[in-house]
Amino acid sequence: MLSIFSYNATEYNSKEHSVTEQVPAKVDMEKLVSLCQRRGFIFPSSEIYGGLSSCWDYGPLGVELKRNIKQAWWRAVVQERDDMVGLDASILMHPQTWEASGHLKGFTDPLVECKSCHLRWRALGPIEEEASVVYLRPETAQGMFVNFQNVLNTTRKRLPFGIAQIGKAFRNEITTGNFIFRSREFEQMEIEFFVKPGTDKEWFDYWLEERFNWYVKLGIKKENLKLRQHMKRELAHYAKACYDIDYLFPMGWAELEGIANRGDFDLVQHAKYSGKSLTYLDEENKEHIIPYIIEPSAGVDRSALAFLCDAYDEELAEGELRVILHLHPSLAPIKVAVLPLSRREKLVAVAKQIYADLRQCWMVSYDDAQSIGRRYRRQDEIGTPFCVTIDFQSLEDEQVTIRERDSMRQIRLPIDVLKPTLEAKLKGEPLDILPRGGSYWLGFK
Ligand code: ATP
Repeated sequence: MLSIFSYNATEYNSKEHSVTEQVPAKVDMEKLVSLCQRRGFIFPSSEIYGGLSSCWDYGPLGVELKRNIKQAWWRAVVQERDDMVGLDASILMHPQTWEASGHLKGFTDPLVECKSCHLRWRALGPIEEEASVVYLRPETAQGMFVNFQNVLNTTRKRLPFGIAQIGKAFRNEITTGNFIFRSREFEQMEIEFFVKPGTDKEWFDYWLEERFNWYVKLGIKKENLKLRQHMKRELAHYAKACYDIDYLFPMGWAELEGIANRGDFDLVQHAKYSGKSLTYLDEENKEHIIPYIIEPSAGVDRSALAFLCDAYDEELAEGELRVILHLHPSLAPIKVAVLPLSRREKLVAVAKQIYADLRQCWMVSYDDAQSIGRRYRRQDEIGTPFCVTIDFQSLEDEQVTIRERDSMRQIRLPIDVLKPTLEAKLKGEPLDILPRGGSYWLGFK
């Protein structure tokens, strides 16, 4: 018999306000949902069967956006740091994990299925065969706590150091909705940062600033972000202190990421329930200590929603409505679009060669349908930072045009410097700065 339980978040940790202070919508959520569906960012799950409430599938562009968000996070918190390592723990964990963590009393709504007769029924309260019970994790965090000693032994890290993990989490949310803001299945990007007791306040402040700035660096407007301190009665059972980074979503200010000082709660609990020592030898004072933990915990889906909301823009260009996603280049699903001006064979051959070449480096799309103006609009709407246009003159002078999404400015340059130029521009160099001072620059159109 297999039972899968999920965690009832709302019942266990009833927050006073998940969405605070209703404010006039800055971005129309309906428009955003429609764009996401129309262009292949996000679809309702199992749509051909009428969908499944609050479950979403990430389409060809959505999967790239999500992948880029996770990559940017991993890069900032693991790749570019000496004091952090990654982990990918199993979703299903030993049931005692959840007893130790204090979540067990929050697991509700179990679905029990008999493997031989396939009958299903709800089972509330303890069941006989404890060993057959597994739980869908409500957070990725526990995988990092139970691996604390493994990581310590294998990496020889010294305090302070952290473990980072990205993975799915499940909560039996009572109130779901607001598109991908709150669902029962979602992805988290979590850090457990282990520090010496007494230095926890300073590291808490450090991570608060670090994580706030991560969103700003990736293009979220500062005025749409704020820190909100949890009141004592709001604090989760494990937390000594907690702040949320709130974002001004279309439905109001709401949590984007939570940063908690978990103290030594988790390591003490897991040591107690497992009977294993989870201490750290402080060589300086020759004593075994239990580290404190600072936890910045972000949602991938909520981040995707915030990045999309913040990037969405409409303007009138030459009498036509131009919808633009001003996504940061590192998050944009498609980095470059290759657009031949016509479908003539000679032009297509050059365009296809450029397309094949650029695809070695980035996600690139090729579009030869309809007018060039329409093709630019299509790319603007999905946030593609650069379009490369190949025209008849390209056959003569071996030059192409780059057009930038936000400013709509254009430059012409030789094909053989296209790749390094795009590379520099995608890293954020302004379009009017000459890469490597090249003399090929012909200026703006
Ligand atoms: P909320 O108050 O909105 O329910 P929470 O405080 O319970 O969120 P945490 O336990 O701090 O959330 O989880 C860390 C992050 O995981 C959140 O900041 C959010 O980005 C994401 N998250 C939590 N629950 C959900 C959900 N049901 N759907 C999507 N993302 C979620």
